[in-house]
Amino acid sequence: MTLKVCKFGGTSMADGNTMQTVRKIIESDEKRKYVVVSAPGKRFNGDTKVTDLLYACYNELKETGDCKQSFAKVRARFESIIKELNIDFDVKSVLDETEKRLVEEHSADFTASRGEYLSARIMAVLLGAKFIDSEDVVFFKEDGQLDDLATYRAISQAVADGGCAVFPGFYGKGADGKVKTFSRGGSDISGAIVARAVNASVYENWTDVSGFLACDPRIVENPKRIKNLSYKELRELSYMGANVLHSESIFPVRKANIPIIIKNTFRPEDEGTAILPITQYKPDGNIVTGIAGKKNFTVILIEKNHMNSEIGFIRKVLSVLEREGVSIEHIPSGIDTMSVVVDSDEIEGYKLEQIIEGIKNEAEPDVIRVMENVALIATVGHGMSSSIGTSARLFKAMSEANINAKMIDQGSSELNIIVGVKNEDCEKCIAAIYHEFFG
Ligand code: ADP
Ligand code: ASP
Ligand code: MG
Repeated sequence: MTLKVCKFGGTSMADGNTMQTVRKIIESDEKRKYVVVSAPGKRFNGDTKVTDLLYACYNELKETGDCKQSFAKVRARFESIIKELNIDFDVKSVLDETEKRLVEEHSADFTASRGEYLSARIMAVLLGAKFIDSEDVVFFKEDGQLDDLATYRAISQAVADGGCAVFPGFYGKGADGKVKTFSRGGSDISGAIVARAVNASVYENWTDVSGFLACDPRIVENPKRIKNLSYKELRELSYMGANVLHSESIFPVRKANIPIIIKNTFRPEDEGTAILPITQYKPDGNIVTGIAGKKNFTVILIEKNHMNSEIGFIRKVLSVLEREGVSIEHIPSGIDTMSVVVDSDEIEGYKLEQIIEGIKNEAEPDVIRVMENVALIATVGHGMSSSIGTSARLFKAMSEANINAKMIDQGSSELNIIVGVKNEDCEKCIAAIYHEFFG
């Protein structure tokens, strides 16, 4: 039988009502056998996600040694869910035990993981399915990367009895034997891992929008839905801020050519978006597939006459960053100039000064300047390489919106054009490019 793995995000798990909606979706298709859930998300604008409540618990724990005050809010969320669902679940004992363990473990990752743990346990009871703790089946290696072979083996053994199962997303077990989480939004990765482990025919990612949209719906009202997206386009867009799907979630499924379908829990009849390997990908016929943007980058601009003929110049610059443990996002270059773009969080405080000093001493540039508060906007699409004048249209749209491009980088794959603009122009720039290509 073809198998589906379904991951339900925070809004889908927000309260008892939405959990019932999730149950109906799962029960409407017997292929939906394996379920991965997030922690309860926001119920309304201005509400707080359970994961954020849990990070607040950890802060209280660090300061005072317990987390009574903050944990009361987590308690209230789960108690109200159980009340709404009216299921046989001893919520008080489970929460008491959880609070006790938070104090014992005293770890940010363990604390944050409990939202997924509790929501998966509840979902398992609601569905009459088996609960499989991700701590027992998802393993990280010493370097923090997924131990994929051990993980896939453990998951396939855990589901060998053939029954339905629910897994908590977002966490697994680190090489030190302790609970370790992925980065924020990481339940999407957990879903992909389970899909790969059980060799699913499809990985359904259920969220609160009807698919991957051509840009963030919080920036442009009602953007066009992308029907088909290639793994590569997804990676570019999600990495650059389209966080409807975590950018790392394609890796487990890509090797096995498992398609990802984005679906809306609250409009299950909507078609959604299919994310496919390039061999199965059917372009929508648009030049641009989507636009995404991310704020807070720092650009280090370096000038030196005859830079291109000075062998080893770029290596000297990059080795300074390597020594400081800073990862690099982009390196646009000209004849006598190069820029290095890094995430501002990576070089907070003293690190930037040390990097500048290091480059001055080791590479001896003529000029070195720093530009902070830069947003990067990625315009992505396989259609761009075969269409003449795409960049001209993009820059015309930016200039008509009075936005200055501070940096330009076109990936060698011709899959994307990246422009750097001031942080405060980020949304305006995304909207301008969207309107140029989608009308
Ligand atoms: P979940 O809790 O289901 O994992 P997320 O909040 O992580 O959901 O992701 C869904 C949200 O992503 C949407 O509500 C939307 O606001 C936001 N989003 C940002 N960019 C896009 C995009 N290009 N297409 C769709 N949604 C997007
Ligand atoms: N609950 C986690 C977060 O808020 C993971 C997830 O939702 O995917 O980041
Ligand atoms: Mg998410």
